[in-house]
Amino acid sequence: MRNWSVFAGRFAGVDFRIHVTFLFLLAFILLGETGRDGPRGVIRGCLLTILVLVSVFLHELGHSWASARHGLRVKAVVLLPIGGIALVDPHAQTDSAVTFRREALIAAAGPLVNLGLAAMMATFLLTLGPPSRLWVMPLVSADHLGTSFFWINTCLLGFNLLPAFPSDGGRVFRAWLARRIEFRKATRRAVSLGHVFAALFMLAGVWAQWLMLVGVFLFMAAQMEERTVLFQSVVEAVHMEDIMLTEFSILSPADTLEDALNKAVHSLQDDFPVISGSDLVGVITRQTIVDRLRSEGNGYVQGAMSKAFEIASRTESLGSAFRKLTSRGLSLIPVVDEERLVGIVTLQHLMHSMGLLAESRKLRRRMEEHV
Ligand SMILES: [Zn+2]
Repeated sequence: MRNWSVFAGRFAGVDFRIHVTFLFLLAFILLGETGRDGPRGVIRGCLLTILVLVSVFLHELGHSWASARHGLRVKAVVLLPIGGIALVDPHAQTDSAVTFRREALIAAAGPLVNLGLAAMMATFLLTLGPPSRLWVMPLVSADHLGTSFFWINTCLLGFNLLPAFPSDGGRVFRAWLARRIEFRKATRRAVSLGHVFAALFMLAGVWAQWLMLVGVFLFMAAQMEERTVLFQSVVEAVHMEDIMLTEFSILSPADTLEDALNKAVHSLQDDFPVISGSDLVGVITRQTIVDRLRSEGNGYVQGAMSKAFEIASRTESLGSAFRKLTSRGLSLIPVVDEERLVGIVTLQHLMHSMGLLAESRKLRRRMEEHV
């Protein structure tokens, strides 16, 4: 479960994931419903949660569409009850003047969707009955789903106009800050303002409990967003030569699988480059060696290795290499310098070295602050 979210489906080339906070929302709604209505209350509670999910999903689809139009491909979106966190290509944050305009346009697309949905629902309800249908108390309740849909979208619209990062208003605020200060610092400040809003919402929870819930969701979303930005700034600043393994085991295509397994036993590596003469000809994982031995008995590495691999140069950023690894489902990337293999980076040791790298950066920053 990455980012405390589960994969829900792929839509228009974007991976949509649902954040665990939707379960909190469901629990919150059900606690208010079941006492009165039994199993029917549970069903209506689930439907109400789904209405929130659908509204947030369409809101995010608006953003994804606008992003694509501005040449930014959204890879994945994590849906929270107050909005979504989109993961885009980190190369996006370049020219601040262009970014501000683009960020504002992309940000506007989400709330506009909610405005459209609310307007449609209002028209529908008003043609069916008197204007009072929009004012049934409580405004959002499992008892009247149509009116609730109107108010859910109105709330999403209103909330996203606040500069409560990572709301859409907060994003525009960050982009505005980023015209003058570094993107990461701008994010920090926007997150701080987001935290202030989260605290205010939680305080307002004394008056209406659901506001407290909004505060908690907002706080979690701000944390998530800050982590993403930090992660991205680190992966773009780090080069392959900073983290590659320079001492590693290699295999030859002429090795038998049993020999290869023997070597694998004496190495910490899970993935091996296969070298013929001085040429890199393939890669093979420990698991493939074991699987092949089990299913077909002994054979040669030549026949079992994968010839579909990507290479990286010494100075390539970790972010770029990471995208190559994940987009093709690879677990090893050889690093070459003038066609010579100089190192390897594997997913297995990447997680480990990222942690070390983050620590060393933190230490350096602390030392700089003390100077
Ligand atoms: Zn939004």
